[in-house]
Amino acid sequence: MPQNLDGAGRFAPSPSGDLHVGNLRTAILAWLFARSTGRRFLLRIEDLDRARAGAEASQLADLAAVGLDWDTEVVRQTDRTPLYRRAIVQLAEAGLAYECFCTRREIADAPSAPHAPAGAYPGTCRDLTDGERERRRQERPAALRLKASVSQYTVIDQLHGPFTGAVDDFVLLRNDGVPAYNLAVVVDDAAQGIDQVVRGDDLLSSAPRQAYLAALLGLPEPHYAHVPLVLNVHHRRLAKRDGAVTLSALALTGFDAGGARDLILRSLGLPAGPLERALEAFDPAGLPREPWIFEPPELPDAHHRANIN
Ligand SMILES: [Zn+2]
Repeated sequence: MPQNLDGAGRFAPSPSGDLHVGNLRTAILAWLFARSTGRRFLLRIEDLDRARAGAEASQLADLAAVGLDWDTEVVRQTDRTPLYRRAIVQLAEAGLAYECFCTRREIADAPSAPHAPAGAYPGTCRDLTDGERERRRQERPAALRLKASVSQYTVIDQLHGPFTGAVDDFVLLRNDGVPAYNLAVVVDDAAQGIDQVVRGDDLLSSAPRQAYLAALLGLPEPHYAHVPLVLNVHHRRLAKRDGAVTLSALALTGFDAGGARDLILRSLGLPAGPLERALEAFDPAGLPREPWIFEPPELPDAHHRANIN
């Protein structure tokens, strides 16, 4: 479809709470990658799983406050279940899906295949007989898993180069009827015409699964750029308990949204100020490849500290 030939990048937060500087930094990077290559920039709310009332509105407000703009309407995954169903039916009809009745416990306890990566699904339900399947359907609802015919897959990442990662029979549809993350992401990116995926490098290991699934569905594989995360002073992934890490908390320490944006831009070696100036200076090759260790400014006093949530 011609209207999808224009490229697009995206930011796709889960509406589970306020964005922190790590999320905002990834969003700014995704915007810079998209805008610097003439792409549209789209927002998608990944609310299949963890949605908290009011979180989406405050996330959108924070993204706008640091200067991001986006094209067309914001898309919500909960509005798109028919798209996911269609993809699942397509895979099932091609013989690429099977029912799995395993509990987490059973998967953890099952002996894994000799060369399987840690945590890979051991294939317990892959070859159940019709009778076994019928019997197990009486016990618990089935999840649907992909029947993968590879155990690894390689993607090209703009920052990491070729990256080969494990592919197992991952879940397509959870046993509570909710489409799985990997399926929804692949379907959405293609349906939205997204050909550039910029996100935190904690998701690099899921890119091979997603690219493989895209290939099975006959969908184009996007360009990937997995960017360094923001870590706390203990070198763990930044979290809200680390202190003044959201815009509302930073405001209490004297950093308004523009000040927070400037902290982020400086951490990327980019000029502070309006994002348009950063855009002119943006060069992916010059990005830091190490995580940014963020030490939040001190909150003024305990009274304020109690109000940051
Ligand atoms: Zn199973």
